[in-house]
Amino acid sequence: MRRFLALAAFCASCAAAPNLAPEQQAVIDHISAASLRGHLSFIASDLLEGRATPSRGLDLAAEYIAAQFRRAGLEPAVGSDYFQTATLRAGKAKNVIGLLRGSDPVLKDTYIVVSAHYDHLGIRSIGEDRIYNGANDDGSGTVSVIEIASALAALPVHPKRSVLFVAFFGEEPGLLGSQYYAKHPLVPLEKTIAEINLEQVGRTDTTNGPQVGVAYFTGFNYSDLGDILSHEASGAGFRIAAGASAKNEDLFERSDNLPFAEMGIPDGTLYVAADFPDYHRVTDEWQKIDYENMAKLDRALALGLLRLASDEPGPKWNSTVPAARKFMHAPH
Ligand SMILES: [Zn+2]
Repeated sequence: MRRFLALAAFCASCAAAPNLAPEQQAVIDHISAASLRGHLSFIASDLLEGRATPSRGLDLAAEYIAAQFRRAGLEPAVGSDYFQTATLRAGKAKNVIGLLRGSDPVLKDTYIVVSAHYDHLGIRSIGEDRIYNGANDDGSGTVSVIEIASALAALPVHPKRSVLFVAFFGEEPGLLGSQYYAKHPLVPLEKTIAEINLEQVGRTDTTNGPQVGVAYFTGFNYSDLGDILSHEASGAGFRIAAGASAKNEDLFERSDNLPFAEMGIPDGTLYVAADFPDYHRVTDEWQKIDYENMAKLDRALALGLLRLASDEPGPKWNSTVPAARKFMHAPH
């Protein structure tokens, strides 16, 4: 009986896992729901006061993200620092940027950017709960960037290309951090072959009902990226798909991927649901996140990044899609 059970368990795991290369298995094993939960319980805590741009809460979040990049072993991307500081009318705010140096002598000078925004709406003036915690929007993307960075950095041999991990300030007031980066890039934009942005990847209780095991990628067919990410995601037992087309096109132009697309870099934003019950409310809290699902999504994306980091050449815009053409002809 004992032997039979052992055999049954073995076969069950065989059926679930396709043939994965050692580095694929390693990143899958590294990414954990518990780790994501730990990070987000701080990033979305009341202590950070809703992470408005600019604010002390935002700066505290920036220090936390930098500490995690340091712990993972990412190189500081701004001299000896992880902070790209912008001066705004109301004060200073920082993009937090870490570099995972590629392992291939040629491809290491080409880059993939993985990003999310870590700011949110701050504090409202009235009510018992006044803090906009922004757990799903976009604490979820932020902690996913941290977790994926630490999984890829832990590989004994880094991916061939270099990967830049970025947490943006100022998305909520209007893509300020991503626009600032596109104007002040830390690695050459013409060597940046793709950008993947993460938004609202934590909530599976969407306004349209439960949504488990699938995420959507904006501009799915604007470039090769949708097919590449979708194909690799299956190795993690997750689905990355195209959303409803009008919504997908709208979101493509409303997220931090836009400034990169405008510079001609194939990209898009990965999200689970654009609409969820606590969107832009003080009730968007870390306890409501589906951490198991978010870990699966992060594993799926990590496999996509492994592929993008080793494929030569990089992804291309799709000239047969009218909406993609204006980005294709953008100055790189
Ligand atoms: Zn957001």
